[in-house]
Order: sequence, then structure tokens, then C-alpha cells
Amino acid sequence: MASTTEELRTADRSDDPIGPGRAIAATLRSTLGPNGLDKMVIDRSGSVVVTNTGATVLDGLEIDAPIGRVIRDAIRAHARHVGDGTTTTALLVGELIDAADGLVERGLHPTSVVDGYGRAVSHAGDALRELSVPVDPDDDRVREVASTAVTGRWDAASARRFADITVDALDAVDYDAARLTLHAYPGGELADSERVNGILVDLDGSSTTVDGFGTDDRRTLADPTVALVDGEVTPPATEASGTVTVRNPDGLAAVREHERAARDGLIRSVAGRDVDVLVCQKSIDDGVKTDLARAGVLPVERTRRDEFDAIARAADATAVAAVADLDRDALGTVGSVRRRSVGGGAAIELSGLPGESHESLLLRGGTPHVAEETKRIVDDCLSVARHAARGGGVVPGGGAGMAAVSRAVADRASSVDDRSALALDAFAEAVTVIPRTLARNAGADPIDALVALRNRHHAGETAAGVARSGAVENMFDAGVVEPVAVPARCLETAVRTAGLVLRVDETLDAEPIEGGDDDGGHRGHDHAGDGDHAHESGGGYPWALSH
Ligand code: ADP
Ligand code: MG
Repeated sequence: MASTTEELRTADRSDDPIGPGRAIAATLRSTLGPNGLDKMVIDRSGSVVVTNTGATVLDGLEIDAPIGRVIRDAIRAHARHVGDGTTTTALLVGELIDAADGLVERGLHPTSVVDGYGRAVSHAGDALRELSVPVDPDDDRVREVASTAVTGRWDAASARRFADITVDALDAVDYDAARLTLHAYPGGELADSERVNGILVDLDGSSTTVDGFGTDDRRTLADPTVALVDGEVTPPATEASGTVTVRNPDGLAAVREHERAARDGLIRSVAGRDVDVLVCQKSIDDGVKTDLARAGVLPVERTRRDEFDAIARAADATAVAAVADLDRDALGTVGSVRRRSVGGGAAIELSGLPGESHESLLLRGGTPHVAEETKRIVDDCLSVARHAARGGGVVPGGGAGMAAVSRAVADRASSVDDRSALALDAFAEAVTVIPRTLARNAGADPIDALVALRNRHHAGETAAGVARSGAVENMFDAGVVEPVAVPARCLETAVRTAGLVLRVDETLDAEPIEGGDDDGGHRGHDHAGDGDHAHESGGGYPWALSH
């Protein structure tokens, strides 16, 4: 990665709009597809993550060139919205900018190129829609979409397993993402990851604490009654009184006695209703906590808001403002509550939910970075699977979609009689970067693959794409499919980003109004969000345009 990273840095001081896009694409190229190689990303603190996820690599790149940052930010925004296709988008941007450069050199105005690309992307959308086939949630295609999204991230068996647990979990919550939570726990093998049919409350990541459950993992409460209190739990005495003036030791004893009685009353009102688990959104007074545990009630305090609400819905319980408001109707129940130790941390697991179903995926990795990376991949997998299941339609992968787009746009170009026809032709050629790169990464000859692909598409086999082996095959038969939204949005983002870059003809540093800073070299050493303007040498001007 050294040479391209170097390129990204040196592109800094030139106004060259082509270099950064080309360098980003060159960096990501070898990671595309099922045969993608990994990159070792080392961040500023020295932590290392080995990945071939486009978004992670992109985050790890130190990009100084302003145009490079524009490109990266656009692709990042795409990744957040779509959840897949980061590398594809980066390669398309590089190729579109490169092609535009050639056209501009031949005398075409950048605006004509941008217009032509704009027309091309709308034809591309039509071509993809035509290629897409509908799926329904029970369709096996949803599973194929999930496994296509994670192909190449892990070994084939892990990819299949993750695709399966993701789709099964989604299915169990009717594809409602709010009822599926992901938890990343370091200190375990990828293979230790599991799907939990229930709610997992992290006791370390959040400040949730549980008293009296000990550290024994075998301790399970069967069919516990669950009560939820949305406020703090404190004894009424300390809650109600302002200042108590004590004049003699007897007075103090009386106050203590009063408090004791109030606390006993509180404990009785919980234990007396046969509550087994008291889930509190805020804190529980220490004395009360101890007494509750002694009375056989499991106190869970400072529960995260989303988990608190999920528990209420899952247990069919109603949260009340204070313990005094607890009545039979407010109480709920679950099949079991159990404590679990996970990778040096602890969690409690609520399962057998009578109310709304809930699923948790417990993802493991050797280090926090690896565990987080796993979570990121599964997150992407979730978003494409949901997309497909909600009737978005799917297209064949392996570059089949891009091959169809290429053909359709080239057809259109021949009927356009102005200069933008050249841009349409360039676009048609540019999108073939995806099948070409998939072939190259598979060790096949990209030109041979492209020729074979064209012939098959010409013969009407629009599902032909580049398989994992590098050979051209029917992608529907191979189970390589993606939501139509993925290639469509990749193309839209790429065209928008290329347009942004092509319209720039000069990068200006806003000059300081008066005096001093003429070193100009501070440009680009800082990016938005780093928040280190103050450390800049020479009194850097934070309003400089390129920042
Ligand atoms: P991105 O960041 O763009 O999603 P990926 O590395 O995930 O990049 O690669 C995605 C590309 O790989 C898509 O074009 C997809 O169709 C293709 N792909 C995924 N699995 C396979 C497979 N088994 N055979 C062929 N192509 C595949
Ligand atoms: Mg992908």
C-alpha cells in the first residue's frame, strides 16, 4: 500500500483533480470481490486491523489532498446509507474521472462530460431495473444476498454461517432492525459468535449493574416476574424530606428508624408483589439494592434506554415512574433470565419472550478492532438482506449488472448526436472496471473475461457475470445476487462525486485577510473533525477554504 499511500500524500500540493481519485481506486482495487486480498490498516495509535472491507480501508487512509477528502467523504456517506458497495463506488469514481480526463484532453468541455455522465446514469438505472427480479422475505434469494455481501470477508464456511444467522435472526423479528441488536465482544474466536433468541444486556459496555447474581454463569431464574421502573429507586424518606435538624442522639436514632421503616416498606412493595427482577432505568440506592438482593429480587440498574424499552415490550410489562406505582398490570414475565460471562465481561440474557420478539447477535473477535470489524460486516449484511426482503428486487452480481449497464448505455450513445455521446461511450467503458477487476483478482485475464461477458450478454444471457473462479457464469445459478439498489446507488454516487471533482478547476487556499501566514504549507494537514486547529503551526487560519 506504500506507493499509493505516498501518491495520496504527494497529490496534496498539486491542483491535480485526477491523482487522488486514481490513487484511492488503485489502493482499493485488489480488495474487490470474493478473491479480494486484505489490507493491513494501521491507525495513528498503532493498532492494526487486517481487512478487505472498503469502508475500513478508506477510513485508514491518510488523505491530505482536498480533492481526495471530498471523494472519501462522498464514498463514506454512500457506505453509511447503502451498507455495501464501497469498493465498487471508489473504483467507479476513479475510472469515471480518468475517462473524463481523456475526453477533456481531446477538447470536450468538463460540463459536457458531466452532462453526458448524468444522462448515462439514468439509462443505467433503467437497465438495472429491467434486469432485476422481485424477491419475497421467505425467498432463498435473501440468503444469497446476505452471503454475497459477506463473501471474501472470511473463509467460505464462516461467510455462509454468518449469512445464515443474520437472515434467521432478521426473519425472527419480521425484518424490524430495531429488534435486532449486535454486540461485539473481544477476546474470542470468530467461530464463537452466536445468535441469541432474546435480549442481551451488556453489563460492561453500558454502566448497567446487577447485584446479587454473583459471578456464577449457571445461575438462571426461571419464569421470573419482571418489573420496570423508569426513575430512580430511593427510599421515600431521603426522597421527600429537605433538611432534618437533629438535636439529640435520640432524634438521630428516630430518623434512622424512620428511614429503615421506609426502606422496609419499599422492599415489601417489590418483594410482596413477587417481583423477581427489578429493572431500573436510573440508579438504585445502595442500601435498597442490598436489601432487594437479600429479599430474593434481582436489581438491574442504569439500564440503557433502548434496552429498557425493549425489555418492557418483550416482557409485556409497563414501565412505571416509581416503585409505589407498581401493580399487577404493570408486571411482566419472561422465560428465563441468566447471567453470562463473555470474553472477560458480563451480560444478562433474557429469553423466552412472551411479548415482542427480540434477537441479539453476539459477535466475537480476538481484539476489540476485530470484533468491531465483524460487527461492521454483519451490519452491512443486515442492511442488504433487509433491502432485498422488503421487495427491493435483486440483480445478478459478479459484474453482471455493470455489463448490462455498459451495453445499454453504449446502445444509447449511438443515438445521441451531440458531443455528450462521447461521454456516454466513456461511461459504458468505465463501468466495466467492475467485471474486469473481479476477473483480475481471480487471476483470470480481464480482457478475455470482458469479451466472454459481452458475448454472453449479447446472446441474451443477462445474468452472466464473473464467478469466484474467474470464469464467466450465470450468477443467478451461482447464487451471487445483490439488491438492485446497491449497483444503482454505487453508480449514482460515483457520477455525483466525479461531477464534483470535474467541476473544480482550481483548489484555493483562502488567504488570510492580513499579515502573516504565507507558508501555505498548512493546507490539508488537518481534516474536519480532527479538532486540532489549535495545534497548527504558524497561527493557521481555520477558515481556509480547503479545510
Ligand atoms: P464492495 O465494497 O464494493 O461491496 P466487495 O469486495 O464486497 O466490494 O465486492 C463486491 C463485488 O463482488 C460485487 O460486484 C459482487 O457481485 C461480487 N461478488 C461477491 N461474491 C461473489 C462471488 N461469489 N462470485 C462473483 N462475484 C462475487
Ligand atoms: Mg461488499
